[in-house]
Amino acid sequence: MLTVDLDAVAANYLTLSAHAASAECGAVVKSDGYGLGLAPIARALAAAGCRTFFITNVAEGIALRRTLADRVPTARVFVLAGPAEGTFDLIDSHDLIPVLSTIEQIALWAAHGRARGGRRAAIKIDSGMTRLGLADADVAALAAKPDRLDGIDITLVMSHLACADDPDDPMNAAQIARFEAARAMLPPAPASLANSAGILLGPAYHFDLVRPGAALYGVATVQGRPNTMAPVVALAGKILQLRHVDSETAVGYGATRRVPGGHLLATVGVGYGDGYPRALGNRGAGYVDNVRVPIVGRVSMDLVTFDVTDVPEDRLGVGGFVDLVGPNYGLDDVAADADTIGYEILTRLGRRFRRVHVGGDG
Ligand SMILES: *Cc1c(COP(=O)(O)O)cnc(C)c1O
Repeated sequence: MLTVDLDAVAANYLTLSAHAASAECGAVVKSDGYGLGLAPIARALAAAGCRTFFITNVAEGIALRRTLADRVPTARVFVLAGPAEGTFDLIDSHDLIPVLSTIEQIALWAAHGRARGGRRAAIKIDSGMTRLGLADADVAALAAKPDRLDGIDITLVMSHLACADDPDDPMNAAQIARFEAARAMLPPAPASLANSAGILLGPAYHFDLVRPGAALYGVATVQGRPNTMAPVVALAGKILQLRHVDSETAVGYGATRRVPGGHLLATVGVGYGDGYPRALGNRGAGYVDNVRVPIVGRVSMDLVTFDVTDVPEDRLGVGGFVDLVGPNYGLDDVAADADTIGYEILTRLGRRFRRVHVGGDG
């Protein structure tokens, strides 16, 4: 069972808004709200005051617009992947704002805008990440022929930071410089650069709008600093079987771990098929009643076994729970033990678990 604390999401939104005091705080809710459920997440953020949302594609954008329609119909919904061909009418009818990252997208959207009396869009600059966005030469080409933008109402010029998780990386300041240089060659428009970690880099990174994602959901986004965000997710797995081991025995696929006699094992109905990382085998842990219970053996598709010998027996029972993510062992601890980042844990866990949303106004 995956519990999502919507009040914690709202609290994190307010914390990030306060950090970026002079800028508007938007929210990135792509990938089904980082796996936590787009509709409840978006409603909680809207209730906390968020009026600008970022989503990956048009289908997600339509779902988001429907969710927000009765509460904040004027909220802005930006589509990060841009205007795919064949979706222009859907973008218009659901009042979505595409993010344009190539000269070709700009040409198509400008033509559409000229035919319809003008259309809003964001323009994305590549300031050093070399992923999505206009290269320096593209920006220069636009500056040389500004009429290519006729038909587009530029509501935002944005870029994305590659190394914001490391405050000491010189790439951060270099990206500001390239972003500023590109902006100066385009028509004046509000600007946005910072993701979660970028917000924490300080006011020089805030511009007019910040775009946190992960930090809203409690993920640590800056290396080597304590995570000040409120935890949002808790994950518990149900105990399907308890087994006393009489004499030394091997556990799980590949018999990778031998457990001495006298130990007590709990088999829990969660596995990599749920997005629980296989890499946690023989490395990760759970908690029962604040007692650490290490994973023994490999994680299977639907099952994982814990050594619960240290837990008082009256605290254990079939049908009871092992905490897999929680106050003792947070998302970032799980990620570290699985050699990945909290982002990946979150977006993969969200899929098969029963998700229970607490807090918020429903
Ligand atoms: C995903 C994304 C964000 C949010 O990043 P976090 O690190 O999760 O805060 C911001 N901007 C863009 C363009 C993104 O794709």
